[in-house]
Amino acid sequence: MTTTTESGVYTAAAPPDEAWRPTDADLPFRATSGIWRPEILEKIEETIARLDAALREVSLDLHAHPELKYEEHHAHEVLTNFIEKEGFEVERHFHLPTAWRATFSHKGPKSSSKASRTLGINSEMDALPGVGHACGHNLIAISGVAVAIAVKEALVEFGLDGKISLLGTPAEEGGYGKVKLLEKGAYKDMDACLMCHPAPGPQWSASLSSCLALNRAKVNFKGHSAHAGLSPWEGVNALDAAVLAYNNVSVLRQQVKPTHRIHGIFHGDEWAANIIPDNSEMEWLIRAPTRAEADALSERVKPCFRAAGMATGCEVALNEPASVYDLRQNKALGDELTNLYQCRYGSVNYGWGINSASTDFGNVTYELPSLHPGFAIPTVPNGGNHTHDFTKSTKTEAAHKATLNISKALAAIGVRVVEDDEFYAQVKETFEEDKKKREEEFKQAGL
Ligand SMILES: [Zn+2]
Ligand SMILES: [Zn+2]
Repeated sequence: MTTTTESGVYTAAAPPDEAWRPTDADLPFRATSGIWRPEILEKIEETIARLDAALREVSLDLHAHPELKYEEHHAHEVLTNFIEKEGFEVERHFHLPTAWRATFSHKGPKSSSKASRTLGINSEMDALPGVGHACGHNLIAISGVAVAIAVKEALVEFGLDGKISLLGTPAEEGGYGKVKLLEKGAYKDMDACLMCHPAPGPQWSASLSSCLALNRAKVNFKGHSAHAGLSPWEGVNALDAAVLAYNNVSVLRQQVKPTHRIHGIFHGDEWAANIIPDNSEMEWLIRAPTRAEADALSERVKPCFRAAGMATGCEVALNEPASVYDLRQNKALGDELTNLYQCRYGSVNYGWGINSASTDFGNVTYELPSLHPGFAIPTVPNGGNHTHDFTKSTKTEAAHKATLNISKALAAIGVRVVEDDEFYAQVKETFEEDKKKREEEFKQAGL
């Protein structure tokens, strides 16, 4: 339900049936007081309005040329050319072939000797197999660019000190691009990092929900082949091991929390019905609301594999590739977003966004103060992220406008991060508080 208070502040507690539909009429939003340096927000809004048509063109271009993880060559080209023309220094193929970095630094006339802060921003680029831009990364790409340019223009206009580091981050969909970039030090210079993500939700809303931490497990069973009719007793059946492991996990599911997710597949090489299979491979994704819970859950899943190996006599090899963590939305950054959003652009909630999906940005939020708000775009029923219908939603005018709105709010937060010492002290403080909370979560999970 969205209501207006006398001050013009919108409050929203959205029940699950309140997703924004394409046929919904526009809700009116009014500005109110309480915005830090409103003249800066005005400059940001002016800059993003100037970029509107050009950004729309880039977004539709990416949408028409969907590229899978680590193949974002066209997006790399289009986005780096765009931001370079706006006066940023561009490093193409930054650490990874399709990653890039655009930087800008400014010293104001009253520049002090203190080190200036660096604002990090992320632009995602990759699409999905078969469904194209069904996660709206074309919108995230232009949002990063809009935020970076708007912050740059504000720094110049108001003579402020600060640096901007916009990363073009490949392979969010199953490629863990940001985890690789983190390992390679691409986030080291940043004092805070911002990005956003589209999802279904109430009209013109933003969401500060978290998402699920995700651990992966790859399991190989090695058995021994035999003629399935002539001498099956000579075989050690790796298909049976996979079936038992699958069933073990299915039984475990009844004893885990409703917020946990365990899902997997299995396959094998050169299987035939008349041969006892000597190999099988399983891929599992194990998700929970926090990294600590996901790790504890993984420890309960592993015996399911070992038991299947024991029962069938197969050798078990377990591989655990890099994990992604839950989103730790920085409280001070989130409060600022809430204030700005409710004053200017719409409602804020904690239940929508990408709350039971996962993102490699979670790992960034564990390293440095960060914010990853979701923002609503109009969707049809059962047409959320990763569907053909969502692909249609991510190229609508309304989705574009919603992207620019969240970008304006993020740019205003970004300028405050680099300029306002007191505000940044709160950002740091709430990051440290959350670190303690995480430690507590690990203790509670018995890890
Ligand atoms: Zn996705
Ligand atoms: Zn996504």
